[in-house]
Amino acid sequence: MNKKQEQPSRAWIEINSKNLIHNILQIKSVIPTNCQIMAVIKANAYGHGMLETAKILSEIGISNFAVATIEEGIKLRKNNIRGNILVLGYTHFDKLEQIIKYDLIQTIVDYDYAKKISKLSLKEKIKAHLKVNTGMNRLGENYKNIDNIKKIYNLKNIQILGVYTHLCVSDNREKEAINFTNQQITNFYNLIDNLTTSGYNVGKIHFQASYGILNYPNLKCDYVRPGIIMYGINSSKNNSTVKKISLKPVLSLKARITSIKEIDKNESVGYGRLFTAQKKMKIATISIGYADGYPCALSLKKAKVLINKQYAEVIGRICMDQLMIDVSNIKKLNQGSIVTLIGERKFISAEEIAEKAGLSSYELLSRLGNRLKRIVIK
Ligand SMILES: *Cc1c(COP(=O)(O)O)cnc(C)c1O
Repeated sequence: MNKKQEQPSRAWIEINSKNLIHNILQIKSVIPTNCQIMAVIKANAYGHGMLETAKILSEIGISNFAVATIEEGIKLRKNNIRGNILVLGYTHFDKLEQIIKYDLIQTIVDYDYAKKISKLSLKEKIKAHLKVNTGMNRLGENYKNIDNIKKIYNLKNIQILGVYTHLCVSDNREKEAINFTNQQITNFYNLIDNLTTSGYNVGKIHFQASYGILNYPNLKCDYVRPGIIMYGINSSKNNSTVKKISLKPVLSLKARITSIKEIDKNESVGYGRLFTAQKKMKIATISIGYADGYPCALSLKKAKVLINKQYAEVIGRICMDQLMIDVSNIKKLNQGSIVTLIGERKFISAEEIAEKAGLSSYELLSRLGNRLKRIVIK
């Protein structure tokens, strides 16, 4: 651990770059050799810090990135991230010049969008990947509309460099979900074949996010788009996959103890007096709250935190900027001591905390707030 970097006084996130690199190597071990990773770093890299994450990935040779919004793409460019940057979401027409200016790749979300782009007066062609809807029904031109899809390739202002789809139940191992996913994949490949035999250069093809990679491996593609597993996290606590890889969580959420006090039996703690001491006890206040993304839903759920390798329970209602814990049995405790709220250990893994809070691990992580400094541990 890089001890030289100063730890903030309140609350922060540590990014373990070794674990991120480990996860990338694990993902590489289960994808075809000529397929590349397109790292999904949208939503501040699932809370990990988009720039911090992109820098580590760039240093190990990752040169394809996916973001949700044009603003995220521009931020990467302004911070000297090179390579291909695909914007997965819709960009409004009056912003499209910026796609050109910052050398981003825009997703063509459907035929109507493409037609409207073709009517604009733009300095150059927009680099684009065409999204195809094979069943998710979120974005993409329906795979059945082959004539429209072919037209998109020939429209003015658009240079199609790739075509992709998104699987919507690839994490589910029930028979019906597997059938549905296989149908999505078949429909996608059939479309690619049709386009290719009609003489179109389809460009790069891709369709697998994390669970597509682990459950539908060895399929021909140019890119895979891992998000959650790159961060070393499973989508939920108990999911088994066809390919099993060892994942190491990249993120730790930390805060400090700000005050330690003793309370008597029958004294209450926090807003609403939701917790009452059953006996004399020692409690501590920590400088993190729900505005930082530690879910208020964990109040009264016996969520645990880690201090000096010992577990303590959250008590009372979690506040906006602070929360209280029971430290009656914790040894070696000081004002300023560091507490880990999410991290690699049992009970505090992102999967377990998310489950306790009634969230997916995606939602838990992507809500981690921007007050938290991201510190990279080499
Ligand atoms: C978010 C997203 C991904 C990454 O999904 P994970 O499940 O985190 O791997 C990939 N592709 C698209 C289109 C996405 O929106």
